[in-house]
Amino acid sequence: MTTGDIRVGMRLPTSIQICTRCRTALPLDAFSPDSRCRSGHTSACRQCCAEAMRAKYLPVPKPTLLDRFNRGVDEPVEFRDPTDCWEWKGSTQWGGYGSLWPGLKAHRVAYELFVGPIPHGLTIDHLCYKRACVNPAHLEAVTLSENVRRARFRQEFLRRIAA
Ligand SMILES: [Zn+2]
Ligand SMILES: [Zn+2]
Repeated sequence: MTTGDIRVGMRLPTSIQICTRCRTALPLDAFSPDSRCRSGHTSACRQCCAEAMRAKYLPVPKPTLLDRFNRGVDEPVEFRDPTDCWEWKGSTQWGGYGSLWPGLKAHRVAYELFVGPIPHGLTIDHLCYKRACVNPAHLEAVTLSENVRRARFRQEFLRRIAA
């Protein structure tokens, strides 16, 4: 007998019980005796109970780098606007750059997670000029001298429009 054979309102033979977890109709001896339950047996079958027990004692999987990154931006990246700045909500260091344990820069992690490995010797430039932004679309791997040149250019530009 399976749950497919059972119709609503049908009276089950007393030797059969439906497991509350796997929804399978099973003979009573598939359930552990439990005097606290009305039927005198646990509501979940022995197999489901054993699985639940195993799950309870199984070590919680360690969060991946992506999990930790998603926590830093409040919501998984797949739900974020791809054009917006993704402001880092986790801890920050180095004058406003997002940081991830152990001493990783969040924007560099973003680049490596979504774009690829940062070529040796290159630095990550924020095209949106926001240090806390970790949107990979706003990040570009450039040489240090290019990064400095851009920063100087921007400073000069800001100085001129302020004048
Ligand atoms: Zn079950
Ligand atoms: Zn940005």
